[in-house]
Order: sequence, then C-alpha cells, then structure tokens
Amino acid sequence: MTAALAELLDVTRAFPGDPEVQALKDVSLTINDGDYLSIVGPSGSGKSTMLNILGLLDRPSVGQYRLAGHVTADLGDHQRAALRARAIGFIFQAFHLLPHRSVLDNVLLAMLYSGVPRQERVPRALAALERVGLGHRLHFLPTTLSGGERQRVAIARAVVSGPRLLLADEPTGNLDQATSGEVMALFEELNRGGLALVVITHDDAIARRAARRVRILDGRLSEQA
Ligand code: ADP
Ligand code: MG
Repeated sequence: MTAALAELLDVTRAFPGDPEVQALKDVSLTINDGDYLSIVGPSGSGKSTMLNILGLLDRPSVGQYRLAGHVTADLGDHQRAALRARAIGFIFQAFHLLPHRSVLDNVLLAMLYSGVPRQERVPRALAALERVGLGHRLHFLPTTLSGGERQRVAIARAVVSGPRLLLADEPTGNLDQATSGEVMALFEELNRGGLALVVITHDDAIARRAARRVRILDGRLSEQA
C-alpha cells in the first residue's frame, strides 16, 4: 500500500472571536499523487482556509493533517518550512510576484529554501520558464507583462522546485476566458506529468475540468460522485 500524498482527518479550523468562526468543520479528504481536484463554494465557505492548511500556511484547530508521510503537527517550524518548500507549490489569483525583480529572479528566488543546489538553480529556472512559454521574457519586469503571462511566471515559480502538490486559489480570477483556458491547459499538462493539482474556482466550467469535484458549504465538504 502506498501512503496518500495529503490527508485531512476530521479537521476543524476555528477562528477565535465572539462568536467563534468555524471555517472548516470536521473535514476529511485524501489526495493522492497525480490527482486533479476542483473546489467550489460561495465566498466565506472555507475554501482558502482549507488550501492554507493543505499548504502548511495554517494548522487545524482539531484533527490531523498528514503530508508526504509526515504527521504535520509533529514537525518543528523549520521542518514545516522545509517540507512546504519541497513538496508544495502555490498559485494565487493576484499572482504575488515581486514587482521590482525580473521574471528570472522571481523564479530563482523561489528556490532559496527548497534545497535545490546553487549550481542547478539557473538551469532549472530557465527550463521552468521555457516550459510555460516565457523563455523570451527572462529580463522583463512583471509589471510589463499581461495577466496571463504573469500567471505563467507564477506557475514556473511554483513548480521549479519540483513539488508534488500544486495548490491554486482562484488562479483564473483575474484573467479573461481565453487566457484562463491557456492557464488551465498548462496546469493540466503538469498534472499529466504526475503533479497533484487542487484548484479553487468560482467558474463551473473550470470546476468541471477536474477529475474530482469537491464542494464546500459553510465549512463542510462534500465530494461529487
Ligand atoms: P473562502 O475562501 O471560501 O471565501 P475563507 O476560507 O477565506 O473562505 O473564510 C472562511 C471563513 O473563515 C469566513 O467566515 C472568514 O471570515 C473566516 N476567516 C478566514 N480567515 C480568518 C482569520 N484569519 N481570522 C478570522 N476569521 C477568518
Ligand atoms: Mg478564498
């Protein structure tokens, strides 16, 4: 039996306050290498909270999260950061590129804490940027690129360290329909190469492209048959 890549076991995430908000309630989910999941749900239903836990940016209040064979609650801060850098890639709606650094630097900087040996970083960054079709934009600043190009830089940055799980929070939310299709096609090509892909979206057409579809309503998760 091979272990799951990522496993949420009865996870609740409560934000203290008056009243307390339970952003996730008793959520269990298993993700295997090569899976392709979409997550839909209304604003405030807990989608980003779940992605943040999957990506080790946040922790369950109750329940367990296992990633790549680790019980994540047992990890110290340093081990957690190292596992995140090695195993996880993140993509955000607003791209989150460094505006005053070149396209190439944005991708190189992503490898600082990932354990990629120094002499391999430039060749890997170049290969990742070629792969997303931006080999001709290496020395451009992100602010001079189109939205679709910026998101492709973000994808190169997210995959350059060779993660097993790619987490995308509304990755096409700032893109027009044609560009969204191109970005999704790129994700799907990476997924066919074995990378597990989780995409939060408001767009039903995008959600339907995924092999597994998960819905979150008021912190509770259900998977479509
Ligand atoms: P979604 O991504 O589906 O729009 P979120 O996961 O961002 O939803 O939020 C789910 C719920 O948790 C919301 O009610 C939100 O206000 C609350 N929440 C999220 N993050 C925090 C936080 N850091 N502190 C307090 N409440 C939060
Ligand atoms: Mg959100």
